[in-house]
Amino acid sequence: MLDSSPFKNRVEGRTLMNPITLYDSATHKKRAFVPGDPGRVTMYVCGPTVYSYAHIGNFRPAVVFDILFRALRHLYGTEAVVYARNITDIDDKIIKAARETGEPIEAITQKYTAVYLEESARLNILLPTAEPVATNYIDGMISMVEKLLTNGFAYVADGHVLFEVSRFHDYGAFSGVNQDEMLAGARVEVASYKRNPADFVLWKPSKADEPGWESPWGRGRPGWHLECSTMIERELGQTIDVHGGGQDLRFPHHENEIAQSAGVHSGAPLARYWVHNGFLHMGADKMSKSLGNTVLVHDLLKQWHGEVLRFALLSAQYRQPFDWSTDLLVQSKQQLDRFYRLLGEAPDVLPSTPPQDVVDALYDDLNTPVVIALLHALRDRAMHMKGTAKLEAIASFKAAGQLLGLLTVNPEQWFKGELVEEGLSVTEIEELIAERDKARQERDFAGADRIRNHLLALGVAIEDRPTGTAWRRK
Ligand code: AMP
Ligand code: ZN
Repeated sequence: MLDSSPFKNRVEGRTLMNPITLYDSATHKKRAFVPGDPGRVTMYVCGPTVYSYAHIGNFRPAVVFDILFRALRHLYGTEAVVYARNITDIDDKIIKAARETGEPIEAITQKYTAVYLEESARLNILLPTAEPVATNYIDGMISMVEKLLTNGFAYVADGHVLFEVSRFHDYGAFSGVNQDEMLAGARVEVASYKRNPADFVLWKPSKADEPGWESPWGRGRPGWHLECSTMIERELGQTIDVHGGGQDLRFPHHENEIAQSAGVHSGAPLARYWVHNGFLHMGADKMSKSLGNTVLVHDLLKQWHGEVLRFALLSAQYRQPFDWSTDLLVQSKQQLDRFYRLLGEAPDVLPSTPPQDVVDALYDDLNTPVVIALLHALRDRAMHMKGTAKLEAIASFKAAGQLLGLLTVNPEQWFKGELVEEGLSVTEIEELIAERDKARQERDFAGADRIRNHLLALGVAIEDRPTGTAWRRK
């Protein structure tokens, strides 16, 4: 049981004030998690660049940070956690995809944003509190560049605005890369207009056939790193509690976000904790588009239930690299079947409270393999129980599974193997509509639109009528 005080947790009789520990990749240590304000815990995760179908490796951070979001909400309360995950809808990769397919950029980004949201829902990934879309923040990006110029961290050269890394003394300290790695790792183009080859682009000119926005430096577009710094500032503030992403983003992306944000915020740190997930491998290598060894979630979902994919991703602790394989999917399905067989004995039991050891394992740097081992033990014990004790054990087991976003399907439906779920359940739809109504009452129209678009992406159209909000499946 969670202690009555929302920020305390009991471990073996001791009361811990800050029970969540996270491995902070800035200090290379596991640290007790202490938010700046327990009433408003903020986290930001670099989201997808929307120009093609995501592979299952791309979904590792989506699932891992969804687990962190759930853990923080469990401890601090649902209302207290603000989680922003952006959509990158302006990027050279998107421009290239538009050229190759002949489709307009907006058509590509809208399609793959909808695909990403639908696949996220199939993997039981909660909707983040905010999903800032980069192109809605261009004004903020321009003003950030102006501040960096005023503060002496940037310079204009050949229509570009560049961040001058030598002006930020801590540059490189976060990722620990040396000068050589900096150049190799950043794959920076050695352009003649740069004062130092490691300087990176804040703003660059757009050709006539490329998307662009008017700016004091001519028509152009932002650099990728700048997009995140601006969305973080606008959505969450100067210093956030957790910044997350895949391990490959530590350098140059996060190093550059840190430099930019410090440059406009008088050195205030960007995040109190940096959390990075390890890679999902395929064969000997990291799964990646450039190596061509990817497995698309779009294809996996034709064969496997989203919960199986989720379970497979959670079977390793998030920092560990691990291999993707069909065998892993088969085993994940088998384990879930065992769990659902128990649930099938009392399909209508509502989840109660997860056992404390499950919560402790989750709070211990999101140790999901231990949580799964505990689920097996709980299941084995419950199988041998009878009567009320059994029902109570099942209720607690279900709560434990749902803490990981698992065991959300009706057991009968699970064994029918209905792969293609007919979108959202009625309860889920009504919950989202209620959330949207609340946002509208609070005059949070952007939030309300976000929920409307999310519903649309999942095939539900809504209409506001004098009598309330009506909905229908498309
Ligand atoms: P991208 O859309 O390529 O920017 O990637 C989205 C997210 O997926 C980033 O946080 C990457 O770090 C992460 N990512 C990409 N490939 C992998 C992989 N093989 N394993 C784990 N995370 C990955
Ligand atoms: Zn980012």
